[in-house]
Amino acid sequence: MIPFVNLAGQRDAYRHEFEKIEKEVLDSGCFIGGPQVKNLEKELSDYVGRSAITCGSGTDALTITLMALGIRPGDQVIVPDFTFIAPAECVSFLGGIPKFADIDPETLQISIESVESLVNKKTVGIIGVDLFGQCAAFEKLRKIATDRGLWLVEDAAQAFGATRLIDGETRKACTFGDISITSFYPTKPLGCYGDGGALFTSNSQLEEKIRMIANHGSAGHYEHRMIGLNSRLDALQAAILRVKLTHLDEELQVRRENAAKYDEFFLNGWNQRVSPPLQVTPQRTAPENKSTFAQYTLLAENRNAFAEKLTQAEIPFCIHYPETLRKQPCFSEILHQQVLQNKNAETATKKAISLPVCPFTDVDQIIQRLSLL
Ligand SMILES: *Cc1c(COP(=O)(O)O)cnc(C)c1O
Repeated sequence: MIPFVNLAGQRDAYRHEFEKIEKEVLDSGCFIGGPQVKNLEKELSDYVGRSAITCGSGTDALTITLMALGIRPGDQVIVPDFTFIAPAECVSFLGGIPKFADIDPETLQISIESVESLVNKKTVGIIGVDLFGQCAAFEKLRKIATDRGLWLVEDAAQAFGATRLIDGETRKACTFGDISITSFYPTKPLGCYGDGGALFTSNSQLEEKIRMIANHGSAGHYEHRMIGLNSRLDALQAAILRVKLTHLDEELQVRRENAAKYDEFFLNGWNQRVSPPLQVTPQRTAPENKSTFAQYTLLAENRNAFAEKLTQAEIPFCIHYPETLRKQPCFSEILHQQVLQNKNAETATKKAISLPVCPFTDVDQIIQRLSLL
């Protein structure tokens, strides 16, 4: 059976590097923070071009972000309606109100028009998400944030290593928010062997605050200046990430080649051959973006029929995401204040389906199986 994400294949490829560094950490007696974490933060910071602070998970990174930005009960924050729950969840957890923006029907990224329509005098910020690995239109979100006096956060949990061309300059994911975050959940493009996350900022005051919040609000030993969290990366995860980071750019290259193979096959082979209900449209990558392809996502005219074909060919798939966030039961209490429907997000929940695309997946084999159907 083909795995959806081939983590075993990746472990085999770098096994000697992993085993050496894992032993070093376990023998060192230093398990939380320490030199591995310090070195990883330096390497992440060199990669992205701004300060990096590690923490316990991507969700923690968002919570710490909102705490550092000073969110207060009743504050409204605009988040995409079609994404993982974490951005909306963290806003609600801290007493804020998530306002759900629609998406672009082709790139599936947060819709700028929808964000504009949701800004009002209670709005304090926007969380943009780099969905499935390509950057949202952050230069446009930045303009809205600047014009309306809002903060801007980038959720790059799926997009560490992605780039976006803005005014002739290639910018990396994790550079667009006042604070940007990523996740090292095992199946993300840069994942560890447990939970982990990081925050990125160029603002040294925010950096200082973030470091305090992530470590019990403490500025030094037993000096607690504010209420914080226990959210720290452990040394073993940092060591594993340091190995994977050295291979990331090659891996992203293979992900992009895999995605290009699928595009070619579905647009110029499959769609010509199958009946209309089985036709699919790949998520559009904006020309200024280089995606990490955290997911290779298609919009299927009839998702059930297409999924049946995949099952027949023994090809695994995932549905990201089967429901809009505004329809999740946990948000039912705030729904009465919200617009009735986000049309494009609704459509995406019915059509989106993702195929294996990781660098250790044999995409040629998958395409071969589909061609034989
Ligand atoms: C995975 C993910 C998160 C949360 O990351 P964890 O490390 O699992 O807490 C947040 N936002 C998005 C868009 C994600 O995909």
